[in-house]
Amino acid sequence: MAYTYDDENIFAKILRGEIPNQTVLETDHSLAFRDIYPQAPTHVLVIPKGKYVCYDHFAQEATDAEILDYTRTIGEVCKMEGVADGGFRMIANAGEAGVQEVPHLHVHILAGRPLGRMLQKA
Ligand code: 5GP
Repeated sequence: MAYTYDDENIFAKILRGEIPNQTVLETDHSLAFRDIYPQAPTHVLVIPKGKYVCYDHFAQEATDAEILDYTRTIGEVCKMEGVADGGFRMIANAGEAGVQEVPHLHVHILAGRPLGRMLQKA
């Protein structure tokens, strides 16, 4: 699958500073910020600064430095938000079946309430 990145997606605008965000952590290659419509007491989105549509795109094409930075940023956000104590969930939706709204890779970190089973039958 060859991915085409849409420069006008909302997270690209956040990265360009055209739309404000509540930043949790910023590094050389990654940005973590609070979801505008939180679905749990803790709901943080972590995105790479590079132009990657979804996780497999990133895993196939990102540099080692980007992958290391992104993984460590997710770990640092989990630590900062204290999510390990009560448990948490990470979600990376992709494409149509994954119901991905914003076509820029993002991992959701959700915590602070019982989150239910992973998937419900459609
Ligand atoms: P997806 O369905 O693509 O996995 O999730 C996209 C997420 O982005 C949603 O949880 C939605 O609430 C969040 N979102 C959409 N627009 C904005 C925005 O302008 N700012 C922030 N902080 N989050 C947004």
